[in-house]
Amino acid sequence: MVDGKLLTEKLLKYAKKFLHLNERDETYMRNILLREFGEDYPASDVGDLSYIEELSVPDILVEEIETLGLERGKCEEGLTNLYSTYIMGILSPLPSKVNEDFIKIKETEGIEAACKYFYDLSIMNNYVQKTAIGRNLKWEYQDGSKYLEITVNLSKPEKSNKDIAKLLSMPKADKKYPACLLCKENEGFKGTATHPARENIRTISLKMGGEDWFVQYSPYAYYNEHMIAINTEHTPMKIQRSTMAKLMDFVDFFPNYMIGSNASLPIVGGSILNHEHFQGGEHLMPMHKAPVKEYFTCAKYPQIKVGIVDWYNSVIRLESEDRDAIKTFAGDIIETWETYTDEKCFIYAETDGVPHNSLSPVCRREGNKYIVDMILRNNITTEEYPEGVYHAHPEYHNIKKEGIGLIEAMGLFILPGRLKTQLLMIAEILCEKTEYNEVELSNPENYLYAHKDMIKSLVEEGLSKDLADAENRVTNRVNETCKNILFNTAVYKPDENGAQGFKRFLSTLGVK
Ligand SMILES: [Zn+2]
Repeated sequence: MVDGKLLTEKLLKYAKKFLHLNERDETYMRNILLREFGEDYPASDVGDLSYIEELSVPDILVEEIETLGLERGKCEEGLTNLYSTYIMGILSPLPSKVNEDFIKIKETEGIEAACKYFYDLSIMNNYVQKTAIGRNLKWEYQDGSKYLEITVNLSKPEKSNKDIAKLLSMPKADKKYPACLLCKENEGFKGTATHPARENIRTISLKMGGEDWFVQYSPYAYYNEHMIAINTEHTPMKIQRSTMAKLMDFVDFFPNYMIGSNASLPIVGGSILNHEHFQGGEHLMPMHKAPVKEYFTCAKYPQIKVGIVDWYNSVIRLESEDRDAIKTFAGDIIETWETYTDEKCFIYAETDGVPHNSLSPVCRREGNKYIVDMILRNNITTEEYPEGVYHAHPEYHNIKKEGIGLIEAMGLFILPGRLKTQLLMIAEILCEKTEYNEVELSNPENYLYAHKDMIKSLVEEGLSKDLADAENRVTNRVNETCKNILFNTAVYKPDENGAQGFKRFLSTLGVK
């Protein structure tokens, strides 16, 4: 049995150390917690709780809160995280206080210190679940002068049968509130079986392009200090000229972070198109580190360096200290690309009135210089490629089937968690720990069915002498697949026709 009085004292000690609980508020907060835990008076002797101040994540306390919640009927099996999130929310400073402190730290110690305050708070109040994220498999694939980052995402909790049964028995809400996962109304939201609890989320308000926006860290933390900037209005994604001012206002506020937008069309646009948002953060992506392969000049804006990036897909890089010029020229690119057709390269701005061209602008600063990368995207489908000509081709769907959004386009692949077990099983076939049975693998019920062609091709290349060698070969195959998927997304292929096509597009912008 969890001791509610003792847990209260542990949480107070924790909140004073990590969640900025003011000493003046301690008695008040103690009474709140005692009430929440159904206790009438506080502990008289708590012993040595100094270890609480050494914690780097709140996990052990979260576990105690959830156990207590179950024991005292505060929450149901399968939904215990709703209760721990509620308690962590109570212990966290109010949104107004977080905003006030963030700005104060930014002004006195600088933006890096302010971000550290905000990120540490997001980890220590269990909004960004660092331990779960740390379980992800991660590696780098060095490919000549370029590299990719690959993550097998194990932090998304798998729902148990019990959870699913619970979900099915829940009555459907008559109103969708909050309207989506990004809406500002998530701040403090209690959560349901299908929508995460967000009592512990905190956001920072800022103006971007003259509009009210806010930022929060991503709970999935696909990379360090993974931030999301979100429009306060629930308004759809639309890449247009005005997008650039928003991105540039972001990097002026956060010169230590990069920021980019998903393209605003299905297939190429990431998973949430109905609420305008950008992805940013401290981490620089493999694309950012890729050099320019050829520089050009623009007659209209001689102060901007224009380059084609030495990258798998089609990226234009703009560099200049002249903010207005780069903003205007990037806007020109957005508008020109939207209606641009080049039959020789199978690029059609629209077919039957359906638009296909969009792009992902990505912005960052290096001192006074602005660097804008524009990833050209197209979502056309054909009979041969019903899921998209510039989407991962079917032979690679065993590794990644979902849309290739901004983060992947920049070279950071997030692969499904099922691959951890599946890749090991494939390696065991390759080194003959498990028998290779082509007939069984052709059964759609087989766990490795999606991989049957890849397994066949690996087996045909020869068997491995041991598991280590086999695992190596499987990883290499995944690496090659990710690279090929990025080539699939390139509207200008890395050949003579593609190179000429790319230059044709640049020349319509006055770039030579
Ligand atoms: Zn929304």
